[in-house]
Amino acid sequence: MPQADIRKIVNHLPGSLTYLSISGGEPFSVKQTLTSALEYIRDNRSKLFPKVSVGVVTNGFWIKNKASDVESLRELYDLGVQRISFAGDDDFHKEQGLDHKEIEAGALAARATLEEQLGGRETFKFMYFGSAPGMIAPFGRGKLLPLSFFRKKMACDLSSPLTITISTRGEAFLCCWKKSPSIGLVIATPLNDLLERALENPAIGGLIRGGPKGAALALGVYDQAREEEYATKACLICEGLFSGR
Ligand code: SF4
Repeated sequence: MPQADIRKIVNHLPGSLTYLSISGGEPFSVKQTLTSALEYIRDNRSKLFPKVSVGVVTNGFWIKNKASDVESLRELYDLGVQRISFAGDDDFHKEQGLDHKEIEAGALAARATLEEQLGGRETFKFMYFGSAPGMIAPFGRGKLLPLSFFRKKMACDLSSPLTITISTRGEAFLCCWKKSPSIGLVIATPLNDLLERALENPAIGGLIRGGPKGAALALGVYDQAREEEYATKACLICEGLFSGR
């Protein structure tokens, strides 16, 4: 994504923003773009969204259990990152040759060394290691998993405060799965304006207020026989409701 577009997106985020996370894909595979985005956020956060906490989500492939790990963490710290989620402790990442335990050990050791170098100053308030909580749905490679795996994770999680996902093309979506229609381009329009407009759309408004059941009611396709599924298979129903719309 061009730097100019990143700036437009950041400038269009609401001043009340409290959490901003950069994830992927794998953001460290486009390191220059990641660095540019973090630099702009760091240099403008107090003016644009003073209460924000900035984080990155990564599979941690760049942790090598070497001195370079300390430099990598130092760079993130200097870029204003407060939270790092190492979310790759799952079979998919193991298949790709990532050893999550080694990544965890390397990252913790590097943080300890960095904090020592900084005279005991706390660096990252939050460092998470594990699989991404609630971040697996039966889409993409997740289709290979048994449906029973998702029973507890399939509820629609459009809760307050709303977590908006912005794609690399600058489109805003109500969740990271991007199964409901984009609510618009944040490159062109402030996010709050897009949200206001989205709430006027019956189906999107219904989805925000009542999950897939709310959207189905708004679209006139509510099926009482699927009442339980609206909760237990929410994301699959959502995909079905909006595919082709
Ligand atoms: S039900 Fe739809 S909007 Fe809700 S979390 Fe699942 S895919 Fe996202």
